[in-house]
Amino acid sequence: MRIFTRKGTVLSRRKFFKLLGGMGLTGAVASISGCSTDAVGGKGWIPGQYQVPGNWPVKVKGRIPIDPANPSIVRDDQKCILCGQCLDVCEKVQTVYGYYELPIKKDITCVNCGQCALWCPTSSIREREDLQSVLRVLEDPNLHIVIQTAPATRVSLGEEFGLPTGSIVEGQQVAALKLLGFDAVFDTNFSADVTIMEEATELLKRLDKGNALPQFTSCCPGWVKFCEYYYPDLLPHLSSVKSPQQILGVLAKTYYSERVGIAPENIVSVAVMPCTAKKFECQRPEMNAAGRKAGNPQIRDVDFILTTRELARLMKLRKIDLSGLESAAYDHLMGESSGAGVIFGATGGVMEAAVRSLYFLVSKQRPPEQLLKFDAVRGLGGVKEAEVMIPGKGSLKVAVCHGLKNARMILEKVRGDNSPWSFIEFMGCVGGCIGGGGQPRTSLASADEVRQARIAGLYSLDDRIYRKRASFENQKVQTLYKEYLGNPGSDLAETLLHTHYVDRAKDVTIRKK
Ligand code: SF4
Ligand code: SF4
Repeated sequence: MRIFTRKGTVLSRRKFFKLLGGMGLTGAVASISGCSTDAVGGKGWIPGQYQVPGNWPVKVKGRIPIDPANPSIVRDDQKCILCGQCLDVCEKVQTVYGYYELPIKKDITCVNCGQCALWCPTSSIREREDLQSVLRVLEDPNLHIVIQTAPATRVSLGEEFGLPTGSIVEGQQVAALKLLGFDAVFDTNFSADVTIMEEATELLKRLDKGNALPQFTSCCPGWVKFCEYYYPDLLPHLSSVKSPQQILGVLAKTYYSERVGIAPENIVSVAVMPCTAKKFECQRPEMNAAGRKAGNPQIRDVDFILTTRELARLMKLRKIDLSGLESAAYDHLMGESSGAGVIFGATGGVMEAAVRSLYFLVSKQRPPEQLLKFDAVRGLGGVKEAEVMIPGKGSLKVAVCHGLKNARMILEKVRGDNSPWSFIEFMGCVGGCIGGGGQPRTSLASADEVRQARIAGLYSLDDRIYRKRASFENQKVQTLYKEYLGNPGSDLAETLLHTHYVDRAKDVTIRKK
């Protein structure tokens, strides 16, 4: 786009948008810059939808730095109007930008959460695409392509196809993936159930030994990286259990690979995620357990991530309309889910799932009704606290937080030895994964309305649609342990399903606030 001024000089697209942005006309910028087209993955943007104070009407303010090698996000400089929305979310909601000193020591500090991609009014920031790579492998007849779908995408993908916010499209998503040519479609809810079996077992061990308490959840790679940068002294508190995405990836190239007789090097593992941090997570050097087991460390446990927005683009490219599809079922070996697995997508869900199974592991009894609707950890409160009575263990104090500013608050208490909790859930994005950086942009004015509608979709799957409510009841998970892993925490489970963390504090100079 070239704009000629009265003096005959040419105004670049970016300068033109900056001019409009500086005049407080960012709404106009958003629509004419392409933010509202499918090509950039969104249906529009409403200023202030994520409720950061100030900054409207938009003035030219600056922007966050993005490393050219960032595996999660990229910026199209031509679209950036220097409005500073990305600065605001990164600094005020996530407390990452502004919490380190310049000059940068290594790569540019980033927890890869992608919240800036949701806030950017012109879609200048977006996910680093894996779409072309996935299209390439789908065309290779020698490869067997498996795909998993995260809990949160089944209540948001429909928005890209004009369905009401929070619509449940679980079966239609599976049908679309089969039409696209994936050889097996698995459910990340299944591996969320496995995560819980391992994490609850780990917590019991810590409680027995009084060791490294409180235990922190570890299924959010944005939160994990934040802890590695800013609170490395607290890394022993992090559960060693991998995220559900990585657990399904490694099981696809070990358990499934052995069952179907396809070598792991011929399997490509793709994940549909609401998350841009997952693109970073799957590239972590240690995420190659299946390859190490097979004697070929080059094999990655998860090869490619498609965000919810990328999957919608792929479907539109192939002219698949989600709303016209009949439901299809997940593939059998790793397709069963409990209600506990699906609520992982909402803030508080991992905690609720964990206490349901913890109760059973200790008492061998089904958890009582109040743990099947654990209201104290539900909802959008920034920090939620609760107490739960576990027979034989007594009363356990737990906490849940979402958004990294809230995480920082909790971590300061733990660091100051001022924490009453035994177990804490951390999620990087506000609302949990339903508010992830790879989720559809929304044209609704209030972001909390969107979050609540998606969360309601997940809870209704939990209490109305799935027959099993707790991870230990998942029969396919029971089969996995019986026929392959042994018990939760066994040597093989430790090798495949657990990980370690790195101290990244040496990469940043922390700014003292
Ligand atoms: S939010 Fe987008 S348009 Fe605004 S400064 Fe950041 S990258 Fe540029
Ligand atoms: S909360 Fe979910 S979507 Fe957000 S960074 Fe963590 S794992 Fe990704």
